[in-house]
Amino acid sequence: MSEGAAKKEEKPRRFQAIRGTRDLLPPETALWNRVEQTAHKVFSTFGFGEIRLPIFEQTELFARSIGLETDVVSKEMYTFTDGPLKRLEDIAGYIRSMVEYQSFLFVAQLFDFYVREFKLGVSRGDLPEEHRSTLLEMHNILEAVQNLDARRHEGDLSTEKERVLARIKLYVSVPRFADVLALRPEATASVCRAYIENNMQQLPQPVKLYTIGPMFRRERPQKGRYRHFYQIDAEVLGGTDAPAIDAEVIEMVMTFFERLGLEGVQLHINSIGDKNCRPKYVELLRAELSKVKDKLGPDSQRRIETNPLRVLDSKLKEEQAIIENLPRIGDHLCQDCATHYAAVKHELGLRGVKYHENWRLVRGLDYYMRTTFEITAKGLGSQNAVCGGGRYDGLMELLGGPPTKGIGFAIGEDRLILSLLETGHSPLATPHSPLLYIAWMGEKAYTTAIRAAKNLRNAGFRVELPPVEQKFSKALGQADKLGARFALILGDNEVASGEWTLKTLADGKQEKLRESDLVEHLKKQL
Ligand code: ATP
Ligand code: MG
Repeated sequence: MSEGAAKKEEKPRRFQAIRGTRDLLPPETALWNRVEQTAHKVFSTFGFGEIRLPIFEQTELFARSIGLETDVVSKEMYTFTDGPLKRLEDIAGYIRSMVEYQSFLFVAQLFDFYVREFKLGVSRGDLPEEHRSTLLEMHNILEAVQNLDARRHEGDLSTEKERVLARIKLYVSVPRFADVLALRPEATASVCRAYIENNMQQLPQPVKLYTIGPMFRRERPQKGRYRHFYQIDAEVLGGTDAPAIDAEVIEMVMTFFERLGLEGVQLHINSIGDKNCRPKYVELLRAELSKVKDKLGPDSQRRIETNPLRVLDSKLKEEQAIIENLPRIGDHLCQDCATHYAAVKHELGLRGVKYHENWRLVRGLDYYMRTTFEITAKGLGSQNAVCGGGRYDGLMELLGGPPTKGIGFAIGEDRLILSLLETGHSPLATPHSPLLYIAWMGEKAYTTAIRAAKNLRNAGFRVELPPVEQKFSKALGQADKLGARFALILGDNEVASGEWTLKTLADGKQEKLRESDLVEHLKKQL
């Protein structure tokens, strides 16, 4: 290797943000803050309190609530194992995922690793003493494997192998010795977990909560779709399922969007039935879809089995005509669901909320029932949904809580901000350029400058105090570059006379002021 090449290699590596994540920078972050402040204000007028939740939870919480067949759980979650026995659990996870289709010997070898790791755990004291007997039992299995291997020429041993595999499966069947965790892909499951864990059913019902924060889904990144994105999420838990609650939740999010000046806002609503009527409709849909299976794309074909409702969501051009002819859920709602849906529409009318009914609107997560809605906005291309929500009365029970009514929504904050920017909402509404730049020279002037900066900042002005001395001409140039409106000139003369010079940068006008008058004078200028 030449010397030059060696030098080049020494250059420290530069890092980049992970694919699908991004930095939010000023001045755009000022707009993020404005959006969040508006959410705090509007939501509190509707009686919502803020809840702050952990960013990781047990994977099982999401698997059970969102549903195993959904894209979010089946392929988009960031999961990891945690704890001193993490390696043991990782090997168990491999065995679980391979046991059905890998060779007997391969699985047996992995199990050998598992047993070694287990033994380490016992000797380190990470596994309690009583597991010594488990270790003995597992050694017996390994002996059986060796025995079968020695007899491999004896003809058909498949029944015996099956028996050994069944014993192996028993030991690795569930994650037992480490936590299997996931970065949260959404907030509703966590809010419900928190409701149960903190006994919120003892509070006056319903409990109205909202939360703002990052979510994680391993999707293909594109405009308006990221792997680390933000949601503003609100939930109403407990009490009744009165249609007025559905309508008020929707009214709240529409009010929030209106307050922000979001453009092209359209509300789409639907009812997807409940556990009485939906299963029958899903079966009907499945039967009808099976008849036209050959004309559908691979995704929809798969969904006929796993999640037929999701076929209605398809954006594929070739499938549109077929979908239009499918049976519609609105014609198959039970009496209670139909009455509830009609009442929700009436309540929206009372509140002056305009909506479009869309029979094809289903949500990607399993737990929704009855009222579902989605809100779209301008300037977002195909990722135009800024909010999705709905009712989920059965969810709390699924998570081991008492029967509890629930409805909520999640706003995609990234998309909301994108739409605001695309329609000309300047992030500069809260400017971060300084109002006043202090040009100081000399040691005495510096002490005065520090005092002046402190007083002005306490009064709420944005002040830039240069950290090193510089000539006045240079300081004024710098003030200009930063976009300051005023420069406060502090030299030995000013300090000695107590008369300070305030320069308006746009027109070069200079005024003499006393220190005590400065704050009042600036306030008048704003
Ligand atoms: P989509 O159909 O666009 O994938 P979704 O049905 O998966 O949305 P929800 O789980 O209902 O979305 O989440 C609510 C909102 O969160 C969406 O309407 C969207 O604005 C936002 N959102 C969802 N996934 C992402 C993502 N990967 N990046 C940015 N925003 C997202
Ligand atoms: Mg999605």
